[in-house]
Amino acid sequence: MNIIIFGPPGAGKGTQANFIVKRYNLFQVSTGKILREEIKNKTEIGQKISTLMTSGSLVEDKIVNKLIEDIVSDENYKNRFIFDGYPRNLDQADNLNNLLSKYDQKINIVLKLSVTLETIKKRISERRAIETRPDDSEEIAIKRYETYEKSTEPVIEYYKKLNLLKVINGERSIDQINNEISEIMVDIEGWLYTLTPYKYDFKY
Ligand code: AMP
Repeated sequence: MNIIIFGPPGAGKGTQANFIVKRYNLFQVSTGKILREEIKNKTEIGQKISTLMTSGSLVEDKIVNKLIEDIVSDENYKNRFIFDGYPRNLDQADNLNNLLSKYDQKINIVLKLSVTLETIKKRISERRAIETRPDDSEEIAIKRYETYEKSTEPVIEYYKKLNLLKVINGERSIDQINNEISEIMVDIEGWLYTLTPYKYDFKY
C-alpha cells in the first residue's frame, strides 16, 4: 500500500504521517526532511538548494525526482511508502506515476488535510516555540502557503479525477483525525498486509 498525504505547511501532515507510519508499518518519504538533511550535512545538493529553500520556494524538480527514484527503486521498501511533501506540482506527479509503474507499484490512496491560513499561522507560531526551522517565520509561512496553493492544488485535483482523493478536516483534534484516517484505511486494498511488522529500518 502506498499513500500520499497533502496539506499546507502547518496542517499537521507530519504528525498524521507519523501515526500512519506506525500503525501500518509504512515508511515516510518526506522530501522536506531529506532536503533539510542535505543542507545540514553541507552536501553538494545542500549548498545548491539552501537559499531557495529558506525563502519558501520549491527546489528544482530534477533534484527532488532523483532523490525519489533512489527510494522508490529500493526493493526493501516496495509498496510501503507514505509520500509527505511529494509530489508538489504536476510534473512531479507525472514523474511519480512513471516511477511507480516502472517499479511495479501504484498509489492506493491520497489524503488531503484541509486547514485555513488562519489556523496555520497560529500553529506555526506555536511550533516556533519548540522547534527552530529557518523557513518558519510568519512571512515565510504565508509564502509557503501561497506556493502550496499555486503548485500543489492542481496536483490534488489530478488525484481527485483519478478517484483516489479523500479530504479530511484538519481543524479537529489529532485523535479525531487519526480515527477518520483509520476508517478510511479499512476500505483500502492492502492495508491488512501492512499491519505485519516489517524487518527493515528505513535508511532515507
Ligand atoms: P516541507 O517540509 O515539505 O514543508 O518542505 C520544506 C521545503 O522543502 C519546501 O518549502 C521546499 O523548498 C522544499 N521541498 C520539499 N519537498 C519538495 C518537493 N517535492 N519539490 C520541491 N521542493 C520541495
